[in-house]
Amino acid sequence: MQNKAVFLDRDGVINMETGDFVFETGKFEFTDGIFDALFRLQEAGFMLIVITNQSGISTGRYTHQHVDRVHAMMLRELSSQGISITEIYYCPHHPSTGKCLCRKPECLLIEKAIARFNIDPARSWMIGDRDRDIEAAAKGGVKGLLINSNEPIHQCVNEIIREKGGITL
Ligand SMILES: [Mg+2]
Ligand SMILES: [Zn+2]
Repeated sequence: MQNKAVFLDRDGVINMETGDFVFETGKFEFTDGIFDALFRLQEAGFMLIVITNQSGISTGRYTHQHVDRVHAMMLRELSSQGISITEIYYCPHHPSTGKCLCRKPECLLIEKAIARFNIDPARSWMIGDRDRDIEAAAKGGVKGLLINSNEPIHQCVNEIIREKGGITL
């Protein structure tokens, strides 16, 4: 039996999109209701996988270490709420410093996760706040759900769980 997953964009979905790169733990603020939303997805049997563009690395704005520190804090906070993230994938590249296949709207990172964790894309979803998130989802063969930046993702969660034939709130 293959796994199913919800792929999550980071900035604007898990944490507040500030209009600038978030690479310091002090600037990282979870979006409203995200713990409850992720917990429900987890309870419904979905792996939770983060796919994020972090082009500020290749342009020299910040480093892999900054990203690791922010992600360690994020995972710690989520873990304290009973939520476990299967993996975080990020693209450090920027088109100005060379083209890559992992920056959304490309889908290499989604494909990597699908292969590594034996995920059935047809039963999986991506939640994002940019068109490029949804494009990446489509290329990766998973269903995309577009939200406004920083909007609670409850309705997406309801839709995902309803599709499965489960009970929604
Ligand atoms: Mg975003
Ligand atoms: Zn890349």
